[in-house]
Amino acid sequence: MTGAQPEEPTTTVPDFTSLHPSNDRYLLRNLLWCHACDVPMAPSQAPSFLGAPRPRTYHCPHGCRETILRAEIVEERAIAAAGERATIRDVAPLFMQSALELLIRQVRVASNDSDLVFHWRT
Ligand SMILES: [Zn+2]
Repeated sequence: MTGAQPEEPTTTVPDFTSLHPSNDRYLLRNLLWCHACDVPMAPSQAPSFLGAPRPRTYHCPHGCRETILRAEIVEERAIAAAGERATIRDVAPLFMQSALELLIRQVRVASNDSDLVFHWRT
């Protein structure tokens, strides 16, 4: 897996007729991996501060990260990246997780949050 060559961009139109609905708010539940530990990142919620809404986060189950990874930020980046490869703007939120799983094999996140590496399905 490491050392795999980045895939060439493809113009293949994915088969969105196979999408299935999901109420899972963590769009990258099965896709986001900790690059350092080579394990899936776990959905979680940050502790509440003074009654403010608890932000959705992902964390490495091995505890290698010291900073919180905000779910909205990484999910927006994944949607934006996927949108450069396929027309997903018409995909309803209920089907977005399925659409991302159709396009993305893995999103590997380094300890530096700005360093996301996408591995695409062909
Ligand atoms: Zn880790």
